Amino acid sequence: MNIAKCGGCGVQLNTPAEMTGASRPPCPECGSSSRVFDDTVVETIEMLDSWSMKHRRPGERQGKKKSAIAESFDGWEYNRDENDWVRVSRSVDRLNDWYRETITTRDGRILRDVSEPLSQHRGRGAARRNE
Ligand SMILES: [Zn+2]
Repeated sequence: MNIAKCGGCGVQLNTPAEMTGASRPPCPECGSSSRVFDDTVVETIEMLDSWSMKHRRPGERQGKKKSAIAESFDGWEYNRDENDWVRVSRSVDRLNDWYRETITTRDGRILRDVSEPLSQHRGRGAARRNE
């Protein structure tokens, strides 16, 4: 048996070293199958569930290219300042001209909490074009 820590919440777990990936039991505390051995993060990406969506209307165009009327993203992004993964929740609502973004660290600190008209958000580079 190796002493291992959960990669999700850091609780100590007794996990046989040969158990890898999907064969590991999930953490009893947080359900993550990620493990940290010897201070090395193993398979960190496994716990980083993200999703995003775009809402398009057929035929609706803004500018030259078709643009989603609403976009949202909820997931993990690597933050260089924090040297850690942070939770990002971001939504763009072009119909209602609204932009919202929150960035929260794993220990619950709020790095960013923005809610403002999308038209005032331009110029910071986040209203990027994906297509
Ligand atoms: Zn855990």
